[in-house]
Amino acid sequence: MQKIVFFDTKPYDKIWFDKLNNGKYEFVYLENKLCKETVILAKGAEVICAFVNDVIDKDVINNLYNFGVKVILMRCAGYNNVDFKSAYEKITVLRVPAYSPYAVAEHTFGMLLALNRKLHKAYNRTRDFNFNLNGLTGFDLHNKTIGIMGTGKIGQIVINIAQGFGMNIIAYDAFPNENSDINYVSLDNLFKMSDIISLHCPLNKETKHMINQNSISKMRDGVYIINTSRGALINSNDLLTALQNEKIKGACLDVYEEEAEWFFEDKSEMTSQDETLSLLVNQPNVLLTSHQAFLTNEALKNIAQTTLQNLDDYFENKPLENEVCYRCTENRKTSCPKVNGRCF
Ligand code: NAD
Repeated sequence: MQKIVFFDTKPYDKIWFDKLNNGKYEFVYLENKLCKETVILAKGAEVICAFVNDVIDKDVINNLYNFGVKVILMRCAGYNNVDFKSAYEKITVLRVPAYSPYAVAEHTFGMLLALNRKLHKAYNRTRDFNFNLNGLTGFDLHNKTIGIMGTGKIGQIVINIAQGFGMNIIAYDAFPNENSDINYVSLDNLFKMSDIISLHCPLNKETKHMINQNSISKMRDGVYIINTSRGALINSNDLLTALQNEKIKGACLDVYEEEAEWFFEDKSEMTSQDETLSLLVNQPNVLLTSHQAFLTNEALKNIAQTTLQNLDDYFENKPLENEVCYRCTENRKTSCPKVNGRCF
């Protein structure tokens, strides 16, 4: 039976993989994150399954290749943590491009509503029988301008939700969707015009730290920032400064640039801290969740379903729709020639 070694596995990951397996594959669930120290645990498997904070760099890829690993199944959409250039022509990387864009888009608005209307504070107060409303004033979303960065699957649903709130919607995308009626503006205009900025673009060389001191200086005073995409889109220290001097009035963060060491685990007993993270979570105008935006039943089911379908397709020599190929990804305009539906 084909063995699949899962890294960074949590109890909620296993539920749908076990339900959908049909006895076809042998799953080995490891709690360890994949990195150069743990890559040895992949020995003996042709397939591994990894997640957002596994470190799949050149060394890890070469080790996996030498151990005979043929497939990396990413059970997530983003692949910024995979050196897919090193994997090219050695190991096939497959991902789940969409499992529930609704989950992430809905969490985006959940965070915005919670922080703006101070629901997290109200919850704590009323549990203490404190029914005072002082300090809980928010603002109407109606008629506010939301700037969407990245109008792909998630960004598009965020736009739909924002329409329901009667917001003015502007957007920036490096590859605008020409068949839509989205009101695209330049990046600078998005910074200048938005009351709320929501990030939905991938992390890559162009987008790393796109929210920094310089871009923040172009924004409206009192802007809100939401990041449910990838932490390193924002320079965290620049964000912290802007929050402290109230240039940025609120930040909803589901991701953090150094999250790999902290998120998904209970670190409450740890004495050493990430100073920037500590300062951020202690800001009264920050709401932080631990990369939770994807976490719905529907998303977990779809992740397991597509991941297993990717694997079936690989072994059954079918076209690989969800392959992360270095050549295609580096040059979006020309995709690779395909042989039997696979990049060649
Ligand atoms: P997508 O590929 O459908 O859309 C991404 C959009 O960003 C595309 O329209 C693309 O053209 C655009 N883009 C690319 N480079 C850009 C740039 N330099 N500037 C502006 N826009 C650019 O992806 P998606 O499914 O909408 O997901 C968006 C991101 O959300 C993913 O990259 C992932 O990092 C993140 N995500 C987070 C969670 C979570 O749990 N927090 C879950 C899933 C996805």
